Amino acid sequence: MDELKQRILSEGQVLSDSILKVDSFLNHQIDPTLMHHIGQEFARRFSNEEITKVLTVESSGIAVALMTGLALKTPVIFAKKKKATTMDKDVYVGKIYSFTRREDVYIAVAKRYLSSEDKVLIVDDFLATGEAAQGMLQIVEQAGAKVVGVGIAIEKAFQKGGEILREKGIRLETLVQVTNLSHGQVEL
Ligand code: 5GP
Repeated sequence: MDELKQRILSEGQVLSDSILKVDSFLNHQIDPTLMHHIGQEFARRFSNEEITKVLTVESSGIAVALMTGLALKTPVIFAKKKKATTMDKDVYVGKIYSFTRREDVYIAVAKRYLSSEDKVLIVDDFLATGEAAQGMLQIVEQAGAKVVGVGIAIEKAFQKGGEILREKGIRLETLVQVTNLSHGQVEL
């Protein structure tokens, strides 16, 4: 997706060999026109599927998910990050290992918003280790729902997430692949 590529190249900041900051259009200030186009692109790529819900995780996935849901005309659910101690029995729970915080983070979705009838498209802003996507997959599995695929705006292709999801046989659509962030340079 050329528009997103250009924005990454002109505005992306390389924070380290593995972290790309895109605060001017995606992660802090948000460009609604760009998000709209991202949503339309996911809707186009998954147009052969009967999607009933779009699922993401708070907070950075919400803009992408909202625009995707708008284009697909489906509700959008964002999994909420919670402490294990605040869980109740009315939620499905996924576990994500956070490499930055070096701890498990739990994400939860109320059972009333996902059922075995649902066909779910998982979306997120970034794919890195695949932990967030796998946490969401756990939630969809607990609901007995079907995952139709995973849509990611920016895949860091030098990290393991893409490989892990594809090995599981999951349809993965990523709009831009970052192949390298070494020496302060973004390579696409
Ligand atoms: P994963 O669980 O695949 O390791 O990471 C995905 C999540 O971490 C995304 O939801 C995203 O918010 C965050 N993330 C991972 N890598 C980056 C990055 O390079 N830049 C930014 N801004 N967020 C990232």
